[in-house]
Amino acid sequence: MPRALLRLICVLWAVAGARAATPMATLRIGRIDYLRAADVAGRLNLRMRWLSSRQLELADSAHRLELPVDGRDASLDGLRLFLGEPALTRSGQLYLSRIDYERRLRPLLRPEQEGSPPGHPRIIALDPGHGGSDHGTENPRLHLMEKTFTLDVAFRLKKLLEAQGDLVVMTRTNDSRFANDQRVDLPLRGEFANQRHADLFVSIHFNSAAPDTRTRGTEVFSFAPRYQRSSDSWQRREDDSEPNPRYPDLSPANRNDAWSVLLAHAMHGELIHSLHTEDRGEKIAHWAVLRPLDCPGILVESAFLSNDAEAERVANPAFRQQIAEAMLAGIQAYGAELGRLRPAPGPAHAASPGGIDPPGAPARPPLPGTLEPPQRPS
Ligand SMILES: [Zn+2]
Repeated sequence: MPRALLRLICVLWAVAGARAATPMATLRIGRIDYLRAADVAGRLNLRMRWLSSRQLELADSAHRLELPVDGRDASLDGLRLFLGEPALTRSGQLYLSRIDYERRLRPLLRPEQEGSPPGHPRIIALDPGHGGSDHGTENPRLHLMEKTFTLDVAFRLKKLLEAQGDLVVMTRTNDSRFANDQRVDLPLRGEFANQRHADLFVSIHFNSAAPDTRTRGTEVFSFAPRYQRSSDSWQRREDDSEPNPRYPDLSPANRNDAWSVLLAHAMHGELIHSLHTEDRGEKIAHWAVLRPLDCPGILVESAFLSNDAEAERVANPAFRQQIAEAMLAGIQAYGAELGRLRPAPGPAHAASPGGIDPPGAPARPPLPGTLEPPQRPS
């Protein structure tokens, strides 16, 4: 290698190191800490350019992030992504909230900076939304109930996952498993996944905008980072915000923010590309079902039952199979991304052929099953 080139590489390395060591300047706007988009671009080694007076692009050869001025509706690699706080301009500079940067954008753009990733997901928890007297959303014109389709899609996905050797646990396998009290039921679903040592959790739902019958499309949620509001909420510290009385310090789900957003992004991309539904974005919310999770987890709203055209698609088994296959592809894409982030194992630590555990491997968790309903007081 020519000496001049070697020196240039050393200088660039030193500059990158210095950059990483210097904290980014923070600007307090209201109650939120903001970072300059230019500093974020520098830290993540992204090029920055204004696409218009309303839109800033941060990009490299692998990723393209488009940030709105005074808005939350961003896009990453062509997929919509709702920021937790609006990007704002001050003195001609665009600013991003620190939480958006640290908890969602950096994990998505530079996941290798998030520390060691979880192991390859082997135990997948599927949560068919609703059940029993909780029908979920309904389309009365077409006599359709959400709870029926969530269970059907979960069974289809279970079959696909098991065919590739995964263990699947389901929070319900029939229509009468729950106490029908959502305050009790929803956290139990997440806690059940924890008890079964799930590596990944997918809650399956269908959406409603009733009485609006025109809204349609696909949304994928991860649990909101600490101190952020839900995507659909413009108020702070309302009922769904932190702290939660059950988890006063930190919601367990927040420990896996980085991996949950990677899972959400992988799943979102596969669903949009496969189903050709309208992209309603990656969102965040304080879903009670996700809050207790010890593993990465997401909630998927594949389509709107309140939209008749979309509800008719959902009523077609071929479309539900397509949803299940897209979800499988999403889980596979997430697993592949984790594999890319893990250092290659040395010979002593390589997995033995055929998926058999090497000697000294930790005991396998208990066999999968379904969640028992909570005992009602007699
Ligand atoms: Zn639902």
